[in-house]
Amino acid sequence: MKKSKTHKGVFLKKGRLPFVFFIFILFSSISAFTQPQNQLTDAEYHAMAAQAAENKSWQDAVNYEKKAYNLNHAEPVYAKQLCVYYNNYAIALLGNSRYDLAMGNFKEALKFDPANNTVKDNMYNVTMDEAGRSLKALRVQEAVNLAKDCISYNPKRATAYAFLGNLYYQENKLEDAVKYWIEAVSLDPANAAISEKLDKAKRELAVERNFKTRSRAYFDIVFEGEKDPELIWDIMDILEDARRSIKSEFSFFAEDKITVVIYNTEQFSKTSPNALDWTLGLYDGKIRIKVGDILSNDKDFLRRIIYHEYGHAVLHILYPKNIPLWLHEGFARLSEPPQPLLPQEKSALDNLKKESNFNLSKISSMFESGNYNDMGLAYLESKAFLEYLIGRYGKYKFKALLEKLNSGMSFDEISYEIYRVHTKDLENDFVKNILY
Ligand SMILES: [Zn+2]
Repeated sequence: MKKSKTHKGVFLKKGRLPFVFFIFILFSSISAFTQPQNQLTDAEYHAMAAQAAENKSWQDAVNYEKKAYNLNHAEPVYAKQLCVYYNNYAIALLGNSRYDLAMGNFKEALKFDPANNTVKDNMYNVTMDEAGRSLKALRVQEAVNLAKDCISYNPKRATAYAFLGNLYYQENKLEDAVKYWIEAVSLDPANAAISEKLDKAKRELAVERNFKTRSRAYFDIVFEGEKDPELIWDIMDILEDARRSIKSEFSFFAEDKITVVIYNTEQFSKTSPNALDWTLGLYDGKIRIKVGDILSNDKDFLRRIIYHEYGHAVLHILYPKNIPLWLHEGFARLSEPPQPLLPQEKSALDNLKKESNFNLSKISSMFESGNYNDMGLAYLESKAFLEYLIGRYGKYKFKALLEKLNSGMSFDEISYEIYRVHTKDLENDFVKNILY
């Protein structure tokens, strides 16, 4: 081919230009380059770039097209094509997880075709991914900077705003969270999930605007300034006890800082209007505790609530997806400090044994009923069943179960795989072996 005949001319310069030398190394095995010839024309370089592109040798395509461009700036195709090759090279680098190098090449791409929206979209997507990885690795400031970069690449897309809203919310910077979520909602009004988060954060901001924060390594406690400081430090100690206890019992622990918000009765009902009246604590990504009259006067009960909610928190952090409600509640109950069964709990378990009509799907509907007695029974049965599973089959299988559930499989799908017993037989065996 004609273009290969003259290509050798490039190599003759290798002594002077390390850049060309680099090409020589890469192409030394291509047999077509044989005869020394004159300097190539821009059209020839352009054709060679196209050939390299066909072989997905993007770096070579860039280098050849750049030569064409340097020889003839007036030809608009070269600049546009160069942009495309830089873009494709960047994408190839991403395949090798070279984020910084990829971004450098995207930026080069834009120099040659500043209006190319595909490149900008690519930069946006790639940088959002990187921001997610940074956040996961707890490099919060880096994640913030990357997400803000995304906004500069395309201020009309909602995801970076939504990401920053989530991040600031987790950092207990409610005002910033609200600010970014407002932007996200205005750009993506159909996104109900962000609208809900925004509404919730606004309710919390109205209550918590002047709340203070006390921090230790694993917890931030957010509370109203007038609260007794001693109570706050007691709660911190209990949280740390809970962390130690669940770590030693199940080897479950997380390095993530967990936020714990302390409310009085009125503040709790304002920020969590859907919580049932008798709810004293909940976990929704943050632990929220209603320290009204009941819990301020009963430290043992306060301890139970805190251990319970911490159990939810750590289970959620380690296995965020697809854990059934009975398992979450059962685990939270098991996380509480041990205590003897109440007489009514004993008789409830007695009935269960007599009637032997236990099934896990019934527990879920009892939780959803909103009925105090049914829910009490659902908590009790969840805990007893989980205690049976762990007691009979061990903690190792319990972890295997959680991992499979988290990967998206249902309990029915995996119970045989893990326990060599189908769900129905597990349920029956549990009822036969109820101990108290
Ligand atoms: Zn619970």
